[in-house]
Amino acid sequence: MADYSEVRDHLVALLAEQEQRFHKITDNITHANEPLSRDFAEQATELENSEVVDFLGNFTRAEIVQIRQAIKRIDEGEYSNCIVCGEPINPERLKILPFTAKCIRCASKE
Ligand SMILES: [Zn+2]
Repeated sequence: MADYSEVRDHLVALLAEQEQRFHKITDNITHANEPLSRDFAEQATELENSEVVDFLGNFTRAEIVQIRQAIKRIDEGEYSNCIVCGEPINPERLKILPFTAKCIRCASKE
């Protein structure tokens, strides 16, 4: 079995980073509701910002889930196998996308 401890360290660091980012994003959402008088243009900009924040929040949260699962799969010795078809994931693909859970064939079917 291949040794993924370096990848695991990288994923743990990445997870901490993304969790921090997620907290920052959700903090922004809370502060966006401050009751201040604003003109319409400002409100429109805020709306767009909150949509971006929403998107970033969801995106970051999805990544956090994927990273956690990847760490779990390393611990279970399943890291390099596709969760859909069970075939080994190309190591080059894992290098580029360290928290992917699917081989290129299954991922491209989505
Ligand atoms: Zn597959």
